[in-house]
Amino acid sequence: TCFILLLVTITRLIYTVGKTEQQKPLILPDLDIENIFHKLRDDPETIQMASTDYGHIVHELPAAVFHPSSIDDIATLIKTSYNSFVPFHIAARGQGHSTQGQAMARDGVVVDMATLRKQGNGVSISVSKDPLIGHYADVGGEQLWIDVLHASLEHGLAPVSWTDYLYLTVGGTLSNAGISGQSFRYGPQISKVHEMDVITGKGEFVTCSTQKNLELFNAVLGGLGQFGVIARARIALEAAPKRVKWVRLLYSDFSAFTEDQERLISINGRKQKNALDFLEGMLLMNQGPINNWRSSFFPLSDHPRIASLITEHTILYCLEVAKYYDDQTEKNVDKEIQVLLQGLAYIPGFYYEKNVSYVEFLNRVRSGELKLQSQGLWEVPHPWLNLFIPKSQILDFNSGVFRDIILKRNISSGPVLVYPMNRNKWDDRMSASIPDEDVFYTVGFLHSSGFDSWKAYDAQNREILEFCRDAGIKLKQYLPNHSTQEDWTNHFGAKWMKFLERKHQFDPKMILSPGQKIFHKQL
Ligand code: FAD
Repeated sequence: TCFILLLVTITRLIYTVGKTEQQKPLILPDLDIENIFHKLRDDPETIQMASTDYGHIVHELPAAVFHPSSIDDIATLIKTSYNSFVPFHIAARGQGHSTQGQAMARDGVVVDMATLRKQGNGVSISVSKDPLIGHYADVGGEQLWIDVLHASLEHGLAPVSWTDYLYLTVGGTLSNAGISGQSFRYGPQISKVHEMDVITGKGEFVTCSTQKNLELFNAVLGGLGQFGVIARARIALEAAPKRVKWVRLLYSDFSAFTEDQERLISINGRKQKNALDFLEGMLLMNQGPINNWRSSFFPLSDHPRIASLITEHTILYCLEVAKYYDDQTEKNVDKEIQVLLQGLAYIPGFYYEKNVSYVEFLNRVRSGELKLQSQGLWEVPHPWLNLFIPKSQILDFNSGVFRDIILKRNISSGPVLVYPMNRNKWDDRMSASIPDEDVFYTVGFLHSSGFDSWKAYDAQNREILEFCRDAGIKLKQYLPNHSTQEDWTNHFGAKWMKFLERKHQFDPKMILSPGQKIFHKQL
């Protein structure tokens, strides 16, 4: 903190000295530094909180943690750094649910966005029916998606694009993309944003949208926190369904599994109103339990026969789909599901279904989290690897990774997700980087490990990446973790120059989100 306070003092001196009497009052009240001094904390507990994350792998000590009372406080902090003789790094920290230190700031300042949430401003829902954009919610970047859900449901509305887990912040997921089983149909969360208020790396408060300040709008969405802090996002809402028909089907053959997934996500255009609302997939292997923390679905009485099928085939592939309905559509939903699933090549007799409320479905991961928390198994290392794989190479990926590396190493525990999405639901002008094919898969290795065993998973992750490189699989990492300039250049591909240009435009002193390790400038 002393370091930051020193910088702030120097900044004040620079602004005061050499300015005419007329200039001084214009600059100093604007910076309003005194008001933010006491919001910087450096007690060990606070520093410890900001120097770890859900991954429990990377640890970076910040000089201080900032507890803002308002968006203006954040603007003042960023402006202070920007105008400083020696700027300091600043990282917004949402829930800190990154796994590789992305929300950390070594020797800089971490902005604890949760403090804003605790001010109780909540989520503001506008139910005005703008003929152009329809219903929307104006939501602070610090808000949790679970709270956006509850607030919008009070109006019979809800966002359409989600993540599997809802205790993440709006700013945190929009900085990546925000994907789940709805993405194939509704696009990632970044495609459902109408407008944002952003504090740039110069400390400027800018409202941006597709109509206004488009460059900043596109930069920030999927921008890994590099261009500004998202203060508010306007999220599209639609009429919320009441209930969900939720189905899982088991496959032993990967080609049949992916062909069926691709067929189901290809229902587009006018037919789409009868299409599925959600589609995912996962691996079932001997290394993990049949029901895992992300979902407990299969009836206990069926575990023995599923387990013996896994023993027979080594890996089973589980297709997971859902269709929403409400009072009006209830009588048709079974029929529609039947039609949609007709002709699928799952193993006969391995069809499971559930009928749950919409909230129970969207919040399905929470009960698993609470169970793990109660067993002390939530706060453990999470050496995750999330990839986007082009459709044309997913069979090579299956044989080289699932059927070779994973089985050979035999350490896998935790869910492995595999499901496709449509590229045309993504806006390529945004910063998020995805494969260059109409359909691509997301593959998520969501490992949990012991504090002394995460390195084995890390080694497995590296082996997977090396295999893909050698096999020419043109993957992109989701929630990317790269450390060299060359890797980042490859990650963004044709978008890299744009990304650089935008960085120079909106955060020229490279102050924001240093934990992403994209820009290595020492401040
Ligand atoms: P943080 O980890 O706090 O921050 C992430 C990055 O965003 C940092 O660089 C930070 O500086 C920046 N940032 C944070 N807030 C702001 C802001 N307001 N403005 C600008 N930048 C900001 N992702 C999916 O897409 N789909 C899933 O289904 C999914 N499931 C998950 C389940 C679990 C259990 C966990 C732990 C993560 C999951 N994720 C999923 C990943 C998650 O979306 C990202 O890790 C996300 O960044 C976490 O949000 P956060 O609020 O914790 O962000």
